[in-house]
Formats: sequence, C-alpha cells, structure tokens
Amino acid sequence: MQGQIVRFALYFFMSLRIIKAKSIFNGEKFIQENVLVIKDNRIVDLFFSESNENITELYDGILVPGFVNAHCHLELSYLHHQFEHYQELLGFIRQMFQKRNLFNEKEIISQAEYWDKKMYENGIVAVGDIVNTIHTLNIKVQSPIHYINFIEVFGLLADKSELIFHKSTELQTTFLNHHLSAFLAAHAPYSLSNPLWYLLLNYYKNNTQQITSSLHFLESSDEKNLLTNRDSLMRTFFEKEFNLKQYELTQISYNFETYFQQLVKHSKTTILVHSTFWKGEYQNIINSFKNKIFFCLCPNANLLIEQKLPDVDYISSYSDNICLGTDSLASNFNLSIVDEMNVLLTNFPQLSIEKVLKWGTSNGAKALNLNTKIGYIKMNCTLPLNVIEIKGRKIIHKGMIK
Ligand SMILES: [Zn+2]
Repeated sequence: MQGQIVRFALYFFMSLRIIKAKSIFNGEKFIQENVLVIKDNRIVDLFFSESNENITELYDGILVPGFVNAHCHLELSYLHHQFEHYQELLGFIRQMFQKRNLFNEKEIISQAEYWDKKMYENGIVAVGDIVNTIHTLNIKVQSPIHYINFIEVFGLLADKSELIFHKSTELQTTFLNHHLSAFLAAHAPYSLSNPLWYLLLNYYKNNTQQITSSLHFLESSDEKNLLTNRDSLMRTFFEKEFNLKQYELTQISYNFETYFQQLVKHSKTTILVHSTFWKGEYQNIINSFKNKIFFCLCPNANLLIEQKLPDVDYISSYSDNICLGTDSLASNFNLSIVDEMNVLLTNFPQLSIEKVLKWGTSNGAKALNLNTKIGYIKMNCTLPLNVIEIKGRKIIHKGMIK
C-alpha cells in the first residue's frame, strides 16, 4: 500500500496520465490490473487500485487495445451501397468488372478519406489494406492509422505478366518512398498466370522472412471446384473473359499447391482471407507452417456475398491464429471490427467474448507483425486504446483513449 502511494505521488508529480477503468482486457484476457500509466503515448505501468484518488482519467467501461482490421480495401470505399448482394463470388467479380470504372478520381479519394476517418472513429488503429492504385497514398501519409499495404498482384494473361509485375513493384516503391509499409501480395489462388506466380515468388525468395503476405483464400465453393479441376462457373467466366485456353487454368490449379508452399515458406506471416469454404485443404502446408499462418475472417462480407459463414469451430479447433477483417465496402455496410465481432457472437453462441476480442486485437497485430506496439495493453504498447461496454453478448464501442 505504502509503495502504491509513493508510486501515485511520483506519477502525479511527473504529470503523467493515470487512467482507471472498470476492467482491462489486455489483448489476450481480462486482467487483475485496472490502472494504466501513460508517458509519451506509451504504457509505462499497470497496477490495481481500489481508490480513485490521483486518477487523472476515469472511465466507466472496459479498456481494450486498439482494434486491428487485418483485411480491407480502403480504395474501394466508393462502392459503398453500389453492389447487389447475395450474388456469390462470381456475381461479385462480375459487378466489380462493371462498376469499378464508373467513378471519377475525386469521388474515389473523398470516399476513401471519409472511411479512413470513420475506421479510426470505430477504434481501428491498424489495417492490412489491399492496394491497386495510388488513390489512398496521401490519406495514409496523414492518417493516425498504421497501414500495412498489400500491393495486389493479379492477371491471367501470361504475356502481360512482366508488365503487371513491373507496375506492381513501381506502386510498391511509391508507397515505400512515402515511408509507408508495402508488400507485394497475390490476389487469390486462381487469378495469377503461371509466369506471374514465378515473378512474385522470386520476390518472396529474394526477401525471405521479411514479407507479411496476404491471399484471398477459398471464398466460394466454385473457387474450390476451379482449384480441383471440377466444373466451375468461374473457370468458364475467366476463360471467356480473357480468351484463355482450357489448359491454362488447369495448369494454375495444378501448380497452386507448390506456389502456396513457397509463398508461406518465404513469408514472415501469411494472412489467408475468408477461408469460408476451407475444410482442411492444403493441410500439409498449413500444418508445416502453423505458427505463421493466420486465418482472417470477414463474416459480414461472407454473409453479403455467399450468405455463408466460415466454419469457426473447425478453424478454431485447428488454429488459434484467427484475426478479423472488414473486406471492402463493396461487400460490407461499415468498416468496423466491433461489427465483425458482434456478428460472430450472434451466429456462434459457443464463442466467448474474450476469444473474439483477442481475434480483433492481438491476433490481428501478430498477423500484421505489429505486435510489439499494437494489439496489447502491456508495458511499452502505445495509445490509442478503446473503451467498450458489454451488454449480454453484444460489444458496444464507447470511444477511444488517444
Ligand atoms: Zn478482399
């Protein structure tokens, strides 16, 4: 007790922020401590106190780390309320082909600007963001959110692979030159020609263990059919759209297992986005690299595209490495990790609140390799943090501590 009084007096004398809340979730579990001391934006002490004396900020709620959105496409925010939902992945891709060029740059940038701010208001402090253009560049330079940019590599036309790869590396360099994190990432198993996969994997091999990677993964049953060379509407669509010879997609599906193994092997972490239809496929690879593979669930997007949620019991019995994403506003109504957590809590009564909070905070930070500063309430981690309330099985975001 005496020690605590001295501690308080010292912090008070140093004019540090002494923050107390009803309870604290530290990114993994609820902890005993209920007081935080902040110096230069960093947590420098944590302890329990019954008294409110000398507390500089008192919160009537639960303190949790800043939320991590491990999968987003900020540049597609202009597609909010533009798509017809429940059209399955192929219908979604078709609408993307039709609508993505209908908007001008000013509209695209102003929507991205609005939603960057909105994400921050929603308590999100870090985002794994898919990038195809420079539209979000200046927004990210100014934003309080920490962005990990995944420059999306895709293209089924083999003779264009050099050009596509060159453009991707140019875009990456532009982001790096603005002091933003940027990695090249494959779009999906089915959307890169064989030569493009080779070019991308060379980049992974030359930067081995330095790359945070991301891949849309088994988002529909049709994609699964394509990868196993069964009849698939996606295959027919791509072959027609890109005038591909039948064997080309067969070759890609045949080789994907090798590509996937190489990609995971040479990445620091790999985020598998959606995995809605994953039922143990490529399990040998996933088993061999279990610690660095993260399953990123985007439940609201899955409901709006496929009307199906991933098998959370199956994935979580298999791996603790689950994180959460919003995907883009083409397939979501909001960019909020709290909304993603709540939809999981509503649909899976067996899931604990502690577990989904972990997925939305520390696991996302680990997936993006930001866990030394973000995703936890522990010594040396930084503000902002969130204040939440729990009503029944619903998480309510009350605000941020900046
Ligand atoms: Zn996505």
